Amino acid sequence: MGLLFYSKKNKSSAQSADIFVILSIMTSSALFRISHNTCIKCYSCVRICVVKAIRVEVNTELPTIIPERCIGCGSCYRACSPAAISYRSSIQEVKELMASGQKVAAICDPAISGEFRDITDYRKFVKMIRNLGFAYVIEISFGVDLVAAEYKKLFEDFRGKYHITANCPAVVSFIEKYHPSLISNLAPIVSPMIATASVVRQRYGQDIKIVAIGPCIAAKDEALKFEGNERIDSVLTFTELRNLFTEFDIQESHLEFSEFDPPLGNRGSLYPISNGLLQSAVISEDLLGGTVITAEGRDNMIRAVTEFDTRVDLIRRHINLFYDEGCLMGPGTSAGGEKFLRHTLVTDYANKRLMTFDADSWQSHINSCSGLDLSRGFLADDQRLPIPPDETIEDVLKMIGQQEQSDNTVGCESCGYPSCREFAIAIAQGLATTEMCHIFSGRNRQQYIQTLRTTNEKLASTQEALRISEEQSRHEKESQIEESGLISAMLQQLVSGVVIVDENLRILHANKAFIRILGEEAAMVDEVIPGLEGADLKSLLPVHFYKLFSFVLTADESVERKDVQYGDGLLNVSVFPLRSKKFVGGIVRDMFMPEVYKEHSNTLMREVIDQNFDTVQKIAFLLGEGAAKTEQMLNAIIESHKSQGKK
Ligand code: SF4
Ligand code: SF4
Repeated sequence: MGLLFYSKKNKSSAQSADIFVILSIMTSSALFRISHNTCIKCYSCVRICVVKAIRVEVNTELPTIIPERCIGCGSCYRACSPAAISYRSSIQEVKELMASGQKVAAICDPAISGEFRDITDYRKFVKMIRNLGFAYVIEISFGVDLVAAEYKKLFEDFRGKYHITANCPAVVSFIEKYHPSLISNLAPIVSPMIATASVVRQRYGQDIKIVAIGPCIAAKDEALKFEGNERIDSVLTFTELRNLFTEFDIQESHLEFSEFDPPLGNRGSLYPISNGLLQSAVISEDLLGGTVITAEGRDNMIRAVTEFDTRVDLIRRHINLFYDEGCLMGPGTSAGGEKFLRHTLVTDYANKRLMTFDADSWQSHINSCSGLDLSRGFLADDQRLPIPPDETIEDVLKMIGQQEQSDNTVGCESCGYPSCREFAIAIAQGLATTEMCHIFSGRNRQQYIQTLRTTNEKLASTQEALRISEEQSRHEKESQIEESGLISAMLQQLVSGVVIVDENLRILHANKAFIRILGEEAAMVDEVIPGLEGADLKSLLPVHFYKLFSFVLTADESVERKDVQYGDGLLNVSVFPLRSKKFVGGIVRDMFMPEVYKEHSNTLMREVIDQNFDTVQKIAFLLGEGAAKTEQMLNAIIESHKSQGKK
């Protein structure tokens, strides 16, 4: 995160007379972060963040803090019950300062009196801090006295402009980011923490390191804005200080008393109470004659700023503002603090300190600080988001099914926004997601369940259809195998040789008769490759023989009953296409086999009869007789030939 230093020297060069020039930019990690592993998506943080600095991510629905929009108030940190939100720890930084060998001063917020009620005497508390290794332990109360005096001057020297106090860093940040038009109304006075740093450096040397200890988390970022005499090297919250006491086993009972190092404060000890600053400088809060209104707590602070922005001409008062209900309830204090008990502890402490108050010494210290520059500037950092057009808001409301809420300012607030309309605006601004609405999510969930149910039913019926189809296909395959086995068995029974080849003249099927007709060499191949499956026809047959198959493949027409010389034998070959230019089949008959020879003779005889029948009839007709006799005679030859074959 980029943070800016303010220069005191160039007040007139900025847009507003009170805005100073940026000197440099330094980087630091974000003040707050959310652990997505711990987050339970309750959106309490979203609900409590008044500046919409928490965006809920669309994909994960997890909240993320947007550092540029955050004012460091710590409300989300307090609201998160599973402790998923943490702030930037300074513990390691402080340990390193202690180990550096340089002198380190602790400056303590007077709110210690409200926080450490378990420590019986503030002097024990001072000693415990010294035992951590701090060279000096100084009260911020003195810085409060200085700052309060500046406010008294500002308010009493009224020049027509009303001011807002700038002691609470969350308030300053809120105005810089969300009411930049009020920057010129922020009192140009440093906070007591920064004033005390200047005092300590003036008294204890420029090189001294300073660690501020207080109840405020936002002070960690405030400290980063100052340098030189005003530099704060680290800021510890009370919670972090307690952790250090525990880690180093520092217990009150083991220690003696020790006093704060000078300069000591006066009524500045009242600062943790919201109007403590005014009371420190005896600035009148009289309802009739006073010119300052004090507002504390988140809602009052926002209302006061908003009204000041629009009605200052009628309000005609300065406003003393704190985000929390006084620093004594700051987010860096222990959780569960009771406000009025703390209030009493603070006033008791102030009274106790005042019992030993040395006015001369205090005045002398005040006088020695008269040369300190306690002024400061502010920087506009406008984070306001444009309000989306009404049509967009209405579209979003329609999308989440809340269109009737378009003019309404109410809602169930479970999304984290005060009304459905505000929620719709946040969605349109990219800060929220529709899933944050329980009603929308519930409806979506129902639809999802219904869709899932329908999909499951479809899936089940598809699976059943698939099962049936697989079953059918298996049956068909089994039938095909069976049929193929039958055909193969039938082919094996034939006297004629049968061969089927593919487009490359590779044998797909050959029956035993074919192998036998081809002779010994083919029989040997059959022993290695049963049925000659895959054998190359060209390697088994002479060229003139296999050319018949090539011809049929290319010409896609049959060759019937072709006599082919094969070795010493004579074969009668028919080749025909089985699938155009893909598969051809061949039937080969050994003409020297008696069965074939007879069949062949019969066929030839029938052909002779058929071919000559017409001629014979014509001759018989011409002769007037004899045709029937000729037919009878030829049929007798065939029959006698058949009967011979049976013998
Ligand atoms: S408060 Fe915010 S960070 Fe904490 S659990 Fe709820 S949603 Fe998550
Ligand atoms: S610290 Fe305050 S401003 Fe920042 S995210 Fe939390 S609630 Fe919002």
